[in-house]
Amino acid sequence: EHRVVSSEWAPEDPALDSVRPRFLEDYIGQDGVKENLRIFIQAAKDRGESLDHVLLYGPPGLGKTSLSMIIANELGVNIRITSGPAIERPADLAALLTNLQTGDVLFIDEIHRLSRSVEEVLYPAMEDFSLDIMIGKGPSARSVRLDLPPFTLVGATTRAGLLSSPLRDRFGVILHLDYYSIDDLAQIVTRTSRILRLVVDDEAAREIARRSRGTPRIANRILKRVRDIAQVQKAAVVTEDIARQALSQLQVDRLGLDQTDVRLLKTIIEKFSGGPVGLDTLAAAIGEEAGTIEEVYEPFLLQQALIQRTPRGRIVTPLAYQHFGYPLPSSASE
Ligand code: ADP
Repeated sequence: EHRVVSSEWAPEDPALDSVRPRFLEDYIGQDGVKENLRIFIQAAKDRGESLDHVLLYGPPGLGKTSLSMIIANELGVNIRITSGPAIERPADLAALLTNLQTGDVLFIDEIHRLSRSVEEVLYPAMEDFSLDIMIGKGPSARSVRLDLPPFTLVGATTRAGLLSSPLRDRFGVILHLDYYSIDDLAQIVTRTSRILRLVVDDEAAREIARRSRGTPRIANRILKRVRDIAQVQKAAVVTEDIARQALSQLQVDRLGLDQTDVRLLKTIIEKFSGGPVGLDTLAAAIGEEAGTIEEVYEPFLLQQALIQRTPRGRIVTPLAYQHFGYPLPSSASE
């Protein structure tokens, strides 16, 4: 086996997980969200109470899991991490809840995917810190109420609208994470590269930032590929040229669009004359799930004004035509 490893590259390079920010001050951007959290956390600590339940919503990769860990670190408590689909039965949730200690954070990712029966166990737990469990079967079955330690539920979802309203109403703090600016992403790239012991010049950091779809997870992923290329080329400094090589290997285009984005937009243009096309029809045409298109791909394309949602379906904008160098159809250019 032959590996190109120069002396600058320690084999024990920290895994990407170690680049997660640990405290609010390491968490770049999302200033409004941070400011709110800082106040709520301080107030809860001053009162000696658990923090209100927090709902974080926004597209994947923007830092919801990281923020939940930060909340626990700032509060000085432990965190348990799980997800909606992982909690299959009410008993699974009961097991998690009864293992919490006073003030702990329970993080439930994809909380909109909890089943109805699990959600119903969660309501009294969130509201009164109590758990109703059934003991026995048949006619002798009875319900017993258990007290839980006060805890903070941090729920994450891609869109707040996906939650049932009784669940949404039980969160005292609802915070929206939005796509990051290029300046913030460039700072994240610089921070991550420092942790990875990689020297990235400013132009390279900005080029990566520009093409990261407003998303720190993507910026970090690109940076990992950049590191591989710099390593193989034994480059001491990552330049814009090296960044571009990584981006073209990853097939990320000028606007940060990946292949699925491109396929989605080109399908609407080529097969549906620019739209409108219904979500399910589009999903079938590109072989992705409708939910994934709606929650993962569309939000960025909408934000970039490359597509629009209309009552009759999705349409691509003249900007998308221009981006791919297609001539504008007469109706779109009017
Ligand atoms: P989500 O839970 O929203 O999908 P994560 O919390 O897993 O996102 O974040 C994805 C990656 O992006 C993490 O590894 C983290 O290092 C990085 N990241 C996210 N937000 C920030 C931020 N504000 N500052 C620095 N790094 C961040």
